[in-house]
Amino acid sequence: MSCDQRVALVTGSGQGIGRGVAIGLARDGYLVILNSRSADPNNPNVGAYEVKNVIETDGGAADVIRGDVGHLEDHEQIETVIAEKYGRLDLLVNNAGVAPAVRADILEATPESYDRVMGINLRGPYFLTQRLARRMIEWKQDGAMETGRICFITSISAYTASISRGEYCISKAGLSMATLLFADRLAEYDMPVIEIRPGIIATPMTAGVKGKYDKLIAEGLLPNRRWGTPDDVARAVCAVGRGDFDYSTGEQIDVSGGFNIRRL
Ligand code: NAD
Repeated sequence: MSCDQRVALVTGSGQGIGRGVAIGLARDGYLVILNSRSADPNNPNVGAYEVKNVIETDGGAADVIRGDVGHLEDHEQIETVIAEKYGRLDLLVNNAGVAPAVRADILEATPESYDRVMGINLRGPYFLTQRLARRMIEWKQDGAMETGRICFITSISAYTASISRGEYCISKAGLSMATLLFADRLAEYDMPVIEIRPGIIATPMTAGVKGKYDKLIAEGLLPNRRWGTPDDVARAVCAVGRGDFDYSTGEQIDVSGGFNIRRL
């Protein structure tokens, strides 16, 4: 099966950054495959089906594939649906991720939390990318698509120590290296791999720590004195999706309101 439209998969796109990225890519002409662990077609007002409705109302095209990125057995199903229905994947956006269920000091944090966060944030996207990149090479070589591009949504936590969520920081640092590894490996096929590092973005993930970050931002933590939005991140991903960063494989784009500027 092959499809005339460019196809993007955005993992974890039922809310937050993934939702914004999916809507942005659909506006740029991608057929967007939304992925979520709990997509329910009988409940079109929440999660991936809500996003699908928004995209379709806007004149775009979307599909939904249920699947848990942390469960390697779900990856085969994701691959099969994409192969059978579309026969191409022009853009993979590894967005799904979780924070620790409980923020715990690094001297107290549990192996269970470590395994959960690493499984979803690092092991899952690493092996999903391995599996889909192999297909993307084939589809590019068969002429089903012009090229394949990959984005990893990491975080400023890839290089910023937060001692109450060490496992999250380690997972994002690992994903940053995964970007370099896949960028190096796929360069011979001219398939760019780019890391996007969001800063403090207003989503359901950060809703529980809103007060803490409101205060830090008001006190000047960020030169751009506001929270980031899913749309801020979507703009960066859309630029990658358009090919604007094709000669920058392996690079990081920070979307963090100037967080990295050292100031005196
Ligand atoms: P969010 O919790 O609002 O949304 C994450 C989405 O991913 C949810 O829909 C969730 O159901 C889904 N998801 C979680 N685990 C999954 C799994 N195993 N399989 C499939 N889907 C799964 O979070 P967000 O703020 O939108 O974050 C999106 C990504 O951006 C994450 O990787 C996060 O670490 C990263 N990030 C967020 C911020 C921020 O400030 N919000 C900052 C830096 C990086």
